[in-house]
Amino acid sequence: MPSRLASRIFVLLLASFTAYAQGPELSKAGQEFARVHADKVILTHVRIIDGTGAAAVEDQNVVIEGGKITAIQKGADVAADKSTAVLDLRGYTVMPGIVGMHDHLFYIARPNLDSQKHSDDPLVVPQMTFSAPRLYLANGVTTMRTTGSVETYSDLNLKKDIDAGNLPGPHLDVTGPYLEGSQSYFLQMPHLTSPEDARQTVEYWADRGVTSFKAYMNITRAELKAAIDAAHKRGIKVTGHLCSVTYKEAAELGIDDLEHGFFVNTQLDPDKKPDVCSQSAGEETLAHMDPGGPEAKDLIATLVGHHVAITSTLPVFEGDLGGGRPVLRQQALDAMTPQAREDVFLVRQPRVPPRPPKIDPALLWKHDLELERAFVAAGGLLLAGPDPTGRGDVLPGFGDQREIELLVEAGFSPVEAIKIATLNGAVYMGRDKQIGSVAAGKNADLVVMKGDPSKQISDIENVEIVFKDGVGYDSRKLLDSVRGRFGQY
Ligand SMILES: [Zn+2]
Repeated sequence: MPSRLASRIFVLLLASFTAYAQGPELSKAGQEFARVHADKVILTHVRIIDGTGAAAVEDQNVVIEGGKITAIQKGADVAADKSTAVLDLRGYTVMPGIVGMHDHLFYIARPNLDSQKHSDDPLVVPQMTFSAPRLYLANGVTTMRTTGSVETYSDLNLKKDIDAGNLPGPHLDVTGPYLEGSQSYFLQMPHLTSPEDARQTVEYWADRGVTSFKAYMNITRAELKAAIDAAHKRGIKVTGHLCSVTYKEAAELGIDDLEHGFFVNTQLDPDKKPDVCSQSAGEETLAHMDPGGPEAKDLIATLVGHHVAITSTLPVFEGDLGGGRPVLRQQALDAMTPQAREDVFLVRQPRVPPRPPKIDPALLWKHDLELERAFVAAGGLLLAGPDPTGRGDVLPGFGDQREIELLVEAGFSPVEAIKIATLNGAVYMGRDKQIGSVAAGKNADLVVMKGDPSKQISDIENVEIVFKDGVGYDSRKLLDSVRGRFGQY
């Protein structure tokens, strides 16, 4: 008992807001990374961006008890006591934890990558089971969908370990193995051979605890339909990064979500044949789709009419624009192995001699941003996630913040962009009664950052504390624990 008591009642003030008071026993992950932990936590004089798209509200108190937000009150000074931790957060903002909807637990490895961007086959995506969950949580992601798994048992067991408090990380929606067609260069994905195979694969993994599925580029319409029907029978949703099936076809088959904004719709690709991926994998369609034209209007009406969400994954495309984009963040580079860092610089080097792309990436970017805006304006549910795998410079957590900044570049207001990355994901997952906004009764999954992202969206990078179920994790401690390891495990 004495040692247990010691871990429960320390009132240490190591930094300005390290705050412990008497509280329920901390998990292993909590003991290692918690900065705020008490029976009752009161965030005082803080600015709230509540995640609903409403304007920021100045000078509020947020009361957290039993892992939940129990009250939101006008800002006032309150005294700490042995079971209450009080944080004076003048100059800080609190927003809901990010609900990352395209947040992988693996990373791309390119054997023998050179300055001509050549690399050797086979392409492999090693698991980042250690580093990725820490980077997500450190940067404010408290719930995430894995959006396609390559080591599904690792992800399922990781979820159990995080939920038990043995490891730090966000709440996980584990997506099953990618539902890919028979023709694929991805060795780690199941290559489905028939609709029956698709049905069996979905049922097998649903039985083992998977809570979402993702279809991939070469799946056929019949296989996709079988997978959707089997998943829906169990109340499980299906998303897709498609190519062989167009967005409209997938909507009509009953898919729930489509990944990568409007970048991978193939309906206008000149060589598109039914059930077969086209050469440009969607670029031709995006280049030729006038965001205000009749084809776009018809597509968006079909998607909205079928309640199909779209996941915006802007960071994974931003690098194609060149011109030093994205700006590399020192903290992200610090998280990487020397090899991963070297790959980033190789990928970003201009080709010599220059090889201009067939379609101008700036045109694709412009059309996609406008289509995402039009989709939302028409009542569509836009979700957000960085897809931290396709390029060396998109990392877990850092990429989720970048996605929000790029939604603002797309023309959404900062509070709308934050809603897309928080409440919208919760709505999609059917969890908006528990998470996704700052409101009394919801889980205390909150991000505390210095500054005011409603005025300057880059302040979203200044995360200091991330609350998950009422425990305040120290962002810097989590990042320090990863230093030099991302890209290895
Ligand atoms: Zn992805």
